[in-house]
Amino acid sequence: MAAPITTVSDSKDRQGLNLIAAHSHIRGLGVTPDTLTPKPSADGLVGQQKARKAASVILQMVKEGKIAGRAVLISGPPSTGKTAIAIGMSKGLGEDVPFTMLASSEIFSLEMSKTEALEQAFRKSIGVRIREESEVIEGEVVEIQINRSVTGSNKSGKLTLKTTDMETLYDMGTRMIDSMTKEKVMAGDIISIDKASGRITKLGRSYTRSRDYDAMGPDTKFVQCPDGELQVRRETVHTVSLHEIDVINSRTQGFLALFSGDTGEIRSEVREQINTKVAEWREEGKAEIVPGVLFIDEVHMLDIECFSFINRALEDELAPIVIMASNRGSTTIRGTNYRSPHGLPLDFLDRVVIISTHPYSPDEIREILTIRAQEEEVDISANALALLTKFGQEAGLRYAANLIMTSHLLAQKRRAKEVDSQDVQRSYMLFYDPGRSAKFVAEFQGRFIGEDGGVTLGGVN
Ligand code: ATP
Repeated sequence: MAAPITTVSDSKDRQGLNLIAAHSHIRGLGVTPDTLTPKPSADGLVGQQKARKAASVILQMVKEGKIAGRAVLISGPPSTGKTAIAIGMSKGLGEDVPFTMLASSEIFSLEMSKTEALEQAFRKSIGVRIREESEVIEGEVVEIQINRSVTGSNKSGKLTLKTTDMETLYDMGTRMIDSMTKEKVMAGDIISIDKASGRITKLGRSYTRSRDYDAMGPDTKFVQCPDGELQVRRETVHTVSLHEIDVINSRTQGFLALFSGDTGEIRSEVREQINTKVAEWREEGKAEIVPGVLFIDEVHMLDIECFSFINRALEDELAPIVIMASNRGSTTIRGTNYRSPHGLPLDFLDRVVIISTHPYSPDEIREILTIRAQEEEVDISANALALLTKFGQEAGLRYAANLIMTSHLLAQKRRAKEVDSQDVQRSYMLFYDPGRSAKFVAEFQGRFIGEDGGVTLGGVN
């Protein structure tokens, strides 16, 4: 088996970096763990309680491995936190559960077909947790879980030890084997256990087991060797994505492509072989599948072929959960003349669970802007914050958040420590929001280059 080159969490960091910067303040979904009740403001997320509750229910199901192969649509007006909620979900996933972000426009490239780009995104979102056995090395960090039941007494239960010290670990191991002996089981020792008599032999010495015990754990276990002996071994676990395994085993690409990201198209035979191999590992208990999350932003940008691809891909046994976001109402499905809600074909929409996000109240906008200012380490006066909040209501939250840094730079120029309303006002005059930009375009329509490439100077041809 090829050695894993990157971990899923590494690639998770690399993917969609550009999408993440604006959401650096998001640390989770901000819900109480037991009841999944969203707090008004927690983990960087403010308001949008219904959507956060729904997202946390889905997250719970992903964690329990119950929801692979389903699709969720987060729908709502621009800047209402759809991406922020998806990022919040990604923070709640386990370290080795893959989360892939994809802006729909990214799949339209000359390097590969759009369905290949989608296939790769799907396979990046499926983790394969592979267990490998190797010798224990003295001094390594080992975790051992011992399930013990003591016959003839009321002492029974589970004991978990975590130690970096092999001596301590094997001290415990020795005591578990027989409290009479002072002999320690050392790394690399060979022990044999006769299951019928319960006799334990270590390096030729023989003891009678005084207790029933069963030692096993995620990292260390006792393994039956072919000759009937048992040896102390360590299990290491790597999680890689199916896509990483594809790339490593693709003769045309090779593992270096993992670093450049330039993987090109992967032949379907390679994927079939990998699927067969992974199925074998699963049967042998060497690997398990970790269905992750594929987040597709601006999903209305996909066309009808992409939707039928996703529809089929969701049927696959190895499908991740697909979370999509759209800010469109009724719009044309790309590649057709039909209109439909969110630009999604109706049969596809039918299988999708929908979470909706709603516009923010002024208080929520103020709270989000305060969090963003803290995140960007900008001190801001109450007046400035009030003005930013007003602009946020009129021109959108994202626009107002962008003014934080520009206002900060203006405040620095006048050697002020704190952003004041004059800085915000000046920023507002310097940088247009989409609404004012549209007005400007309408006003000077004649001076812009038109669709036919022609220019009308001074509005006269
Ligand atoms: P679009 O439809 O335009 O893609 P969106 O609904 O995905 O928008 P986001 O990108 O999530 O909106 O939000 C815009 C900005 O506001 C981001 O910086 C985001 O982190 C922040 N934001 C949005 N909603 C919240 C929230 N409820 N709490 C904290 N920050 C938020």
